[in-house]
Amino acid sequence: MRRAQVTEMMKLTVAAQAALLILGLEHDYFSRVLSIVLFPTDFELPAESWEERGRVVAGQAVNYGSVFLSWETVLAEARDPTTGHNLVIHEFAHQLDFLDGYTNGAPVLRSRDETQRWQRVMQGTFQRLRRDLQTGRKTFLGSYAATNPTEFFSVASEKFFSLPRQLRQCHPELFEVLAEYYRVDPLMWFEGKAGADPARAPSSITEKPASNEAQATAPPQAFESSFTDFACLTAAIPFLFPKRRPARCSSVPTAWSR
Ligand SMILES: [Zn+2]
Repeated sequence: MRRAQVTEMMKLTVAAQAALLILGLEHDYFSRVLSIVLFPTDFELPAESWEERGRVVAGQAVNYGSVFLSWETVLAEARDPTTGHNLVIHEFAHQLDFLDGYTNGAPVLRSRDETQRWQRVMQGTFQRLRRDLQTGRKTFLGSYAATNPTEFFSVASEKFFSLPRQLRQCHPELFEVLAEYYRVDPLMWFEGKAGADPARAPSSITEKPASNEAQATAPPQAFESSFTDFACLTAAIPFLFPKRRPARCSSVPTAWSR
């Protein structure tokens, strides 16, 4: 693989997108991310055994390690947030997921109430997404979000920051729990450009029944995710989301790829 020159523009493009995640959070600037490695394009992970080839991915996040990114993907998605995909946000959402010591699709939450809301909304939306996919329905979040809770959180974060209006239309409760956690309202950033309606922007979490989720009324611009990466769970789950034990990852400790 040819060696790429990492310029200030490249560093800024990655850093600015990663910073979106922590604008509203108390943070230590992702201090557990020891390095950020850019590849020119998608790259191949080491094979897990001699009998198979390594998987080709666009990114990977490692707990207390590196974030690996395909610069080609980073640049394309930075230029066009309307794709609904953002590799930098995806991998750095994994880093937030790592912070409590569990890789389970739940970052560090601030209260018991917030945790209960998170669990109810995330679990309900995740399970509904899986059912919709099984029945062949088109979904806004896409099939990759249904891989496991960790990928669900990262994909939902991508949508929250890049397609906030559409996310709120399709999954209002999911939008609200993410707004409560991130403490920002990306709708305001798109005001006048993406048709945001700031008058309707949520300011607090409301206890709506899960059935209010608007899967059936997804707007025409909703589209299927096209992720082709893989993931593996490594840690125990502190609360049930979903109600099953995680699978084991044998060779790459707490590393997540897109
Ligand atoms: Zn991922």
